[in-house]
Amino acid sequence: MDGNTRGGGHSEALKNYNLGKTLGHGTFGKVMIAEHKLTGQKVAIKILNRRQMEIMEMEEKAKREIKILRLFIDLIHPHIIRVYEVIETPKDIFVVMEYCQNGELLDYIVEKGRLQEDEARRIFQQIISGVEYCHRNMVVHRDLKPENLLLDSKYNVKLVDFGLSNVMHDGHFLKTRCGSLNYAAPELISGNLYAGPEVDVWSCGVILYALLCGRVPFEDDNIPNLFKKIKRITIRGIRDHPWFQNRLPRYLAVTPPNTPQQAKMIDEKTLQDVVNLGYDKDHVGGSLCNRLQNEATVAYYLLLDNRFRATSGYLGADYQQPMDRSFNQITLSESARPSTKNYLLGSNGSQGSGLRPYYPVQRKWALGLQSPAHPRDIMIEVLKALQELNVRWKKNGDHNMKCRWCPGFPQVSDMLDANHSFVDGSTIMDIGDANGRLPAVIKFEIQLYKTKDDKYLLDMQRVTGPQLLFLEFCAAFLTNLRVL
Ligand code: ADP
Repeated sequence: MDGNTRGGGHSEALKNYNLGKTLGHGTFGKVMIAEHKLTGQKVAIKILNRRQMEIMEMEEKAKREIKILRLFIDLIHPHIIRVYEVIETPKDIFVVMEYCQNGELLDYIVEKGRLQEDEARRIFQQIISGVEYCHRNMVVHRDLKPENLLLDSKYNVKLVDFGLSNVMHDGHFLKTRCGSLNYAAPELISGNLYAGPEVDVWSCGVILYALLCGRVPFEDDNIPNLFKKIKRITIRGIRDHPWFQNRLPRYLAVTPPNTPQQAKMIDEKTLQDVVNLGYDKDHVGGSLCNRLQNEATVAYYLLLDNRFRATSGYLGADYQQPMDRSFNQITLSESARPSTKNYLLGSNGSQGSGLRPYYPVQRKWALGLQSPAHPRDIMIEVLKALQELNVRWKKNGDHNMKCRWCPGFPQVSDMLDANHSFVDGSTIMDIGDANGRLPAVIKFEIQLYKTKDDKYLLDMQRVTGPQLLFLEFCAAFLTNLRVL
């Protein structure tokens, strides 16, 4: 290598280096390998051509990168590219930096398909450490992606390309939309204000996904569609996700009431138990309402918890009870003895469930069907009724199903008109057809529970859809089961 003969006439500026081959092409020029004459150490030299920057009207980006790179001359971290010097000439800017023999992390992932968990973790730990160091020094990278993470001879990560980075100032929020879309945080693509570090954290999450899966989590050729996918999920969204819903214990399936609601609910039976222990009723009631803590309220909550634990057979049930494994094989075509016709309209109040507010029992009364029949027979009857009402369902477990009822289906309204005077078919159709909108859809869940006295209780819970319509459906369902 010879600095006087190669490197496109940069001999004077780069007199201390012997330039070698081109390692890659950047936005404003190439990156070349070079040897530091004095020490014999290999370096990479990034050449930023001023003319090129002007033509591309990207002086701002380049200036920013150089400013940050100069900052990194003083800042040393094992996982941030080491910058040895920045040499400026009227034509070019040369950034002399650490040489990364194994190239971009992106190529490494592509070559391997995806990384083993341990290796992915090692790399991720290094990235996080480098990003943390940037943030500590008030630099936010804003374009973290596997193309901007280089690997040295020992496959250690080096953060590079600070062209879109920015220096954070206390109390200031950033707004510039930048970075690669697949790795960009929602606030970046939506143009909202952001403090800075959080967008790098988002990208780190996407990079971890890419390390482990060999692809990015949000991908679409159509940009608006891609933007739709890059949304920060809400708790509601997490709750509704099929992955989360799978094997979800019943008591976690219900959103807890908020604190003011909780505070108002006093279980009369438990209150009486506390009074029987020798406390004044008004005093205990007042303390509970005002959320005071004293001997009486402690006794109240202990008794309440105890009561709830003792009667957790209803909503406390698991997502599926191992009542009858053979139910897995049941199909609707099987004939079932009509032994389940003796339904009783039940209530969970009569089950003696406590009203401990943060347990999922929010209402004093709940509609339920009780039967002493075998759970398998109950479920056969239930499924038959659902089928007749044109309900579509998906089994979550042996005794738990997600259901969907669309009253716009002609067969349903016809059937309701023909057989049941309590529902006016036109009313149901009107719900969906007014203003040309789609017919309303009711989504609900059905769960069969074993009660403490060995009976079975069928619970139906509306998830979405108009409440009154759901009640109408319940009525149709009960009629079908010949409860009404
Ligand atoms: P730009 O940011 O303008 O796109 P890069 O800094 O990414 O340019 O450099 C272009 C290519 O040069 C990179 O993809 C990489 O292959 C190579 N490269 C850059 N810096 C180094 C380095 N320090 N060591 C080894 N190769 C490098």
